[in-house]
Amino acid sequence: MDTQFEFEKNHKQASGIESGTNFNKADIGKLNEIKDFAMENKELNMVSEGKVFLHDLLKLTGAEISITSIPANTKAPFLHKHKNNEEIYIVLSGKGTMHIDAQDIEVKEGSIVRISPDAKRSVDNNSNEELIVMCIQTKAGSLGGFTLEDAEIV
Ligand code: ZN
Repeated sequence: MDTQFEFEKNHKQASGIESGTNFNKADIGKLNEIKDFAMENKELNMVSEGKVFLHDLLKLTGAEISITSIPANTKAPFLHKHKNNEEIYIVLSGKGTMHIDAQDIEVKEGSIVRISPDAKRSVDNNSNEELIVMCIQTKAGSLGGFTLEDAEIV
């Protein structure tokens, strides 16, 4: 199955795309413009509105990062789980309810939630304002050294 998502052409596009020998950069604008993006999977004939995926845009090699705008009073259409990837959800704006297996937890701007691959999860926006969530997907258990162990002053 082709899992590639592209920016749907009738919606907002990333701009300011630059790359160098050791970096990739793009601009996606302000938080309140996330709702104007849509990602399209042509093979599945699927368009996901209010979402930006960064893996392909920035040529990420160890993570997928998405930013999603969930409109006011919107229930997630399905639960999902992962085969190998842990997810870290960071609420950037608004508030909502995350369903994680049999538990419901309230989240709001500034909430950060780590979820193991096997957990069934979804996010509902049961408020009257937009909810914006960043999700970082990375292979569970893949991180070796980090921060002071991995960085070196040059
Ligand atoms: Zn996921």
